[in-house]
Amino acid sequence: MAEKIYERLERISFSRPSGTKEERRAAEILIREIRGIGLEPEVEEFTYLRRYPKEAELRAILEDGSEEAFQVTGVIDAAETPEEGTETEFYYLKSFDEVSLTRVKGKLVLIHDRLSPQEYERLRKAGIAGYLTTSGTVRDTYENSDLETGRFRDNLHDLGAVPAFTIRMIDAVNLLRSRPKKVFFKLRFREEEIHSQNLVVTIEGKKYPDQILVAGAHYDSVPFSLGSWDNGAGAVRILELLEYYKNRIPDRTVKAILFGSEETGLRGSRAFLAAHADLGEQILAMLNVDVGGSILGKEIIFVTASDDTEVWIRQLLKEVGYEAVTTQKLMSSDSASFNDWGIPSISIGQGAPRGGGYMHTRYDNMDLIDEKVLKEEAEFLNTLADRLVNAKVFPIPRFLPEKLQKEVISYFGASQSRLVSHPAKPEEKPLPFHF
Ligand SMILES: [Zn+2]
Repeated sequence: MAEKIYERLERISFSRPSGTKEERRAAEILIREIRGIGLEPEVEEFTYLRRYPKEAELRAILEDGSEEAFQVTGVIDAAETPEEGTETEFYYLKSFDEVSLTRVKGKLVLIHDRLSPQEYERLRKAGIAGYLTTSGTVRDTYENSDLETGRFRDNLHDLGAVPAFTIRMIDAVNLLRSRPKKVFFKLRFREEEIHSQNLVVTIEGKKYPDQILVAGAHYDSVPFSLGSWDNGAGAVRILELLEYYKNRIPDRTVKAILFGSEETGLRGSRAFLAAHADLGEQILAMLNVDVGGSILGKEIIFVTASDDTEVWIRQLLKEVGYEAVTTQKLMSSDSASFNDWGIPSISIGQGAPRGGGYMHTRYDNMDLIDEKVLKEEAEFLNTLADRLVNAKVFPIPRFLPEKLQKEVISYFGASQSRLVSHPAKPEEKPLPFHF
């Protein structure tokens, strides 16, 4: 099995962003693999609208009146500037302390990291004109780095969008050193209809066909990245799972899904649930795999389910001798879409050690991928799936604790989250014991 899983991963290790013909080509390769196993996938096509930056410009206006242009990308789904662009002052916000926040009004603000909803809310209240986030590290060169295109998160839309850009860290340093008197920036969008697809394979359970375990992984990548780690490694584990169940019919139904377009806002998983609202009640839990296969890094299991479930997973790890840490949190991946339908999930990822984080960069390729790691991950996924689909009583209660529901609502934004209008089922506590 080890050799095959590695070769399968090599075969889909090419950049395959949402809606591109490379994503389609990856889907076709996966369809061939599934047919090779002896199963037939349903190809479920979906479309979504995306506002993609067609023009993104940033110029520093210096003290002596001269100008210096910087390469930036516009943040997808952020707000536009007027056609003629905007000229404002510039401010470097080193931290979200109260002094700094009094100085950002009407300015384009440079910040280091990704924005949390709470931070963005502060910036909005403080009246920023727009923001600039960084990509890469100060050690990058133009040759060895790519300028990523960020996405304005859904949960920020409730607060109102502003124009937003991404700049290379090395250019952020140059921009600061130029001490601009003002900055000129322009961001314009075009609306695109994106076509993508999910691949769905159903292995019907022999005892409880109406009780469904979804096992899924996204197969798209971000631009530049070959997506071996994120998340070709998850997609090939789903193929291994199909191979495993091909000749071992489970008690409950396994629905294996290879999702398209996860990287652009969990589009595949959201489209799947919207198209199969009838299945909502039948899906007992979702098992998600996102990121893995690297020789460096630790296995992380995100338990988006009851306290009991995390305890159960920890016991299972001890029983089967699998090295992983658990955390009771939401994972920013396709499992979150299921959580938003009140469905508990277990998401398996892999954390890179410091400095080894190459997610969403050109360094996510086969270089660090290891056959043995992939094989162990695949075996654990099969074991975990088995314990669920063949259990006498399904081990994961179908509800989400209050704190996780809150996490899900904050992740999608109150206006977008389905949990707001369709709260998850309440917990059924065991009856107290008495004679
Ligand atoms: Zn991923």
